[in-house]
Amino acid sequence: MNELEKKSSEYYISLEDTYGAHNYHPIPVVLEKGKGVYVWDVEGKKYLDFLSAYSAVNQGHCHPRIIEALISQAQKLTLTSRAFHNNLLGEYEKYITNYFGFDKVLPMNTGVEGGETAIKLARRWAYDIKKVPSNEAHVLFVEGNFWGRTMAAISSSNDPSSYDRFGPYMPGFSLIPYNNLAALENAFKSNPYIAAFMFEPIQGEAGVVVPDEGYLSGVRALCDQYNVLMIADEVQTGLCRTGKMLACDYENVKPDLLILGKALSGGTMPVSAVLGSNEVMLTIKPGEHGSTYGGNPLSCAVAIEALQVLKDEKLADNALTMGKIFRDRMEKLKQQSPLISSVRGRGLLNAIVIKPFGNGKKAYDVCLQLKENGLLAKQTHGDIIRFAPPLTINQDEMNKACNIIERTILNLE
Ligand code: PLP
Repeated sequence: MNELEKKSSEYYISLEDTYGAHNYHPIPVVLEKGKGVYVWDVEGKKYLDFLSAYSAVNQGHCHPRIIEALISQAQKLTLTSRAFHNNLLGEYEKYITNYFGFDKVLPMNTGVEGGETAIKLARRWAYDIKKVPSNEAHVLFVEGNFWGRTMAAISSSNDPSSYDRFGPYMPGFSLIPYNNLAALENAFKSNPYIAAFMFEPIQGEAGVVVPDEGYLSGVRALCDQYNVLMIADEVQTGLCRTGKMLACDYENVKPDLLILGKALSGGTMPVSAVLGSNEVMLTIKPGEHGSTYGGNPLSCAVAIEALQVLKDEKLADNALTMGKIFRDRMEKLKQQSPLISSVRGRGLLNAIVIKPFGNGKKAYDVCLQLKENGLLAKQTHGDIIRFAPPLTINQDEMNKACNIIERTILNLE
């Protein structure tokens, strides 16, 4: 294999195809460099990144301050395990609990581990505090939820491509429709053993589904009334993505358990966290839950810096302003193009819904053409394209991106 062949996109794609499991179907682009809102492929072509690794890169690719924190800590100490203390874990725990106003944090790695942790905490709280009989604790989810790929996560999913032929499933879970407070109250009334209601304040993978105003505060009120823990999965919506620090902030609602992940490390490594009160957190005792890498000093140093960058660079405000420009432009495009059936979102978590066109062409085909024109985005559920650039995007870059999307859609018709 000579150097030239080694560097082609086709070569890298064929390596993945031959040696990797086929559990993804990526857009055919091979990236080797990123800076801010831009990424470059191995042929040197530059793209605007409008996915941000599913909102993990809110602070922009390779943010200099986060990379500096990563490198300097990596040169000192990376992992101790929780068998020993390290000098960063406590500092990080103090920092993040003050930042979000919770008593305690439980550090994990991936987002799905955050979800698993929240459910374990809720079940334990149900037995110890709510006095639910042994093994009767129930957790309620909503249709269209996505919180990862573990057995518990797929056991709560109503998407067959997540759960089909992976059974048997985890008991003690059930589903109600999203954005439906009457269904939530009915469920609470019909089962006194519900420990928690876990949901995303805006559904990301479902295609950026924004609930009606009043839903979040309604959930809070019902959870209080029926003594059920409100678990907000803000792995995708949190950390300024929707134009506020948390999507729950839109209705000034504080969940009992808050799950964060993705951008908590600015896209450098898997760092997740569950935040909650002493009452809930202290139900889990030493030896009853954990993770070798959870709370490692490298992730603590990186997470402090990643969180500080969000505030210092006012990324919530920028997401709000840039998101408005984006949706205004897309609404105008919708007037011009029969391909777009709707535009929705908050801050910089947005989506457009594409009607089938040509000979059964779909959102994936639009993404392929966007890539040709220099913008990377990914479809979800066949007909939806999510647009979620790094929150550091400026107005010029946003206008450039909107021009590309407009040109692509109008030319495809
Ligand atoms: N929760 C939400 C809302 C998500 O969108 C995701 C991933 O997309 C997860 C949890 C799982 O995160 P991870 O892939 O890091 O396990």
